[in-house]
Amino acid sequence: MTAEGIVLSGTGGVWQVRTDEGETHDVSLRGRLKRGTEAIKLAVGDRVTIARDARDAAWAITDIAPRRSVLARREPSGRVGERIVVANLDQVVVVFAAANPEPHERMLDRFLVIAEANDLAARIVINKAELVGEERVRERFADYVAAGYRLHLTSAKSGRGLDELHEALDGKVSALTGPSGVGKSSLMNAMYPGLDLRVGEISESVNKGRHTTVGAVLHPLPDGGYVADTPGLREVGVWGLAADALDGCFPELRALAPECRFADCVHEVEPDCAVRTAVQEGRASAARYDSYRRLRTELAETERRYPG
Ligand code: GDP
Ligand code: ZN
Repeated sequence: MTAEGIVLSGTGGVWQVRTDEGETHDVSLRGRLKRGTEAIKLAVGDRVTIARDARDAAWAITDIAPRRSVLARREPSGRVGERIVVANLDQVVVVFAAANPEPHERMLDRFLVIAEANDLAARIVINKAELVGEERVRERFADYVAAGYRLHLTSAKSGRGLDELHEALDGKVSALTGPSGVGKSSLMNAMYPGLDLRVGEISESVNKGRHTTVGAVLHPLPDGGYVADTPGLREVGVWGLAADALDGCFPELRALAPECRFADCVHEVEPDCAVRTAVQEGRASAARYDSYRRLRTELAETERRYPG
């Protein structure tokens, strides 16, 4: 007997797989799975085929479908030791609060760069919007809308924006991330009553007292789709990203950089730099440019320390 499904989580060598029929089985991985001659490591989010052993009735994974995306944690050295945190994500949903805790734009930029570096779509949710008022929130995050990001203003408390966010999650595999205390769990519980989700804590409690590292956990949504709880997304970091690839991780700079005089312009001191000009003329965000420069310095430093 076989079935198709998706890997929800993995603990101590046992994987939880939810079949397309909606059943969840504990499944083992016997031997090694190969594609061609290459051994592949299983990841949360993988689409798999599972088979039930006729003798002991235990389920085992027999095949992994090709991935349509990967969120990978890189090592400082770059390629070596890349570890897949979640496979097949459709989008990253970055949640901050309008206040309490005060939003930290430079941290938001890091999350967005991680999404971009992994070729994943990202949207921004500003929760607790009722504490500050719509106009001020829109003003504060206008740079992100200008860069092309979808901005959701929500309040888990008043219910505003929840239908729209719910719709954005329907049928998709989304990684929900952001600092603690911004209301991620409150949002999920307000949108999906009865799901009783503690985002950012489930994996930690599953992990308690065991010597396994638990990565992401996928939670099936009642209306289709999954929310991936990735407590360690911030640690996924920008390690291993080439400094030169950073332009591509800022959509608004990505559009300007080809206009620079020099093809290898790093947008610092070069003459006829379209990025600096746009910032000076107020056509590009000075704050986002500042983030870009900080990250660029950080990446260049990593490249120096871990060459090759
Ligand atoms: P998480 O750590 O991101 O999952 O955040 P929680 O969902 O645990 O929420 C942190 C705190 O913020 C709790 O005390 C919530 O009651 C509160 N909170 C969540 N959403 C809202 C909101 O929209 N408005 C206000 N004022 N408080 C909220
Ligand atoms: Zn330039």
